[in-house]
Amino acid sequence: MTESSRFSLSVEFFPPKTPEGVEKLRLVRQQLYALKPEFCSVTFGAGGSTQEGTFNTVRDILNEGVSAASHFSCIGASRNSVREQLATLKAMGVKRLVALRGDLPSGYGSGGEFQYASDLVAFIRAETGDHFHIEVAAYPEMHPQARSPDSDLQAFATKVRAGANSAITQYFYNPDAYFRFLQDADALGVRVPVVPGIMPILGSTQLLRFSDACGAEIPRWIRLRLQAFGDDSASIKAFGLDVVTNLCEQLRAGGAPGLHFYSMNQSAATLEICRRLGLAVFLQ
Ligand code: FAD
Repeated sequence: MTESSRFSLSVEFFPPKTPEGVEKLRLVRQQLYALKPEFCSVTFGAGGSTQEGTFNTVRDILNEGVSAASHFSCIGASRNSVREQLATLKAMGVKRLVALRGDLPSGYGSGGEFQYASDLVAFIRAETGDHFHIEVAAYPEMHPQARSPDSDLQAFATKVRAGANSAITQYFYNPDAYFRFLQDADALGVRVPVVPGIMPILGSTQLLRFSDACGAEIPRWIRLRLQAFGDDSASIKAFGLDVVTNLCEQLRAGGAPGLHFYSMNQSAATLEICRRLGLAVFLQ
């Protein structure tokens, strides 16, 4: 086995909203399959808002002969609705889930029979035994609603003890946060693979806005450079490729078990980063 084949790559998509988006994503997937991803995952809008699009995209990936993971969020959901959705996913041949609490859009109220992702993980295990490989979310820079880094780490440990097999992180640009998170989890006896989530830098406005909302820190030097590029998208992309490739190199050298790319339904940046990392020799 070669070094690169032990290092797992996975790619995340969101369900397209239009028929054109569906077709475009089909093409993007074919390009990204050149990376031989261990699995491709599809996000799931909280409150079930994208359920049909998520399940259709998952079905398409499976039909293309690639392992697919459905994200699955529980906020606002009842046990019965989750039970039904799990049965649907099982019947479709899905074997991997990314189990999440999710965030309800404002105006949805709260309610629902699950409070935390750990409740969902425990429910999936109770209902379906070992059928699913369960991934959970991890936050090296702390989830924005957590009381403290320590309580967030305890929450992560609870998800793993409830039955999660592995984890994917929120994206970050500071590798020290990831390595420290691994050390802290290890000290709690939590030793599942934690794969870094990688967000290629495709533009600046959306990244800066989105990062504020999800609690991912854009280091000052990166933020300032991005702002200085203004709307020079070619420079932003070139800078982004350098920064993210360098981040991935550090993560790989430090022992990360793989990389999970937030593709944003685009292929070019993910392919180029993997080519530069030497993880896609066939692309050179
Ligand atoms: P939890 O693990 O339940 O944590 C939520 C908060 O509660 C944290 O602050 C935690 O510290 C706290 N907490 C947990 N348990 C306890 C406890 N027992 N006592 C006190 N506090 C506790 N969102 C979507 O809507 N759809 C997606 O497809 C999606 N995919 C994602 C994929 C990845 C890899 C990641 C990292 C995030 C994704 N998200 C998605 C975003 C995610 O839903 C949000 O970050 C959400 O706010 C938290 O979800 P969670 O599963 O991490 O929640």
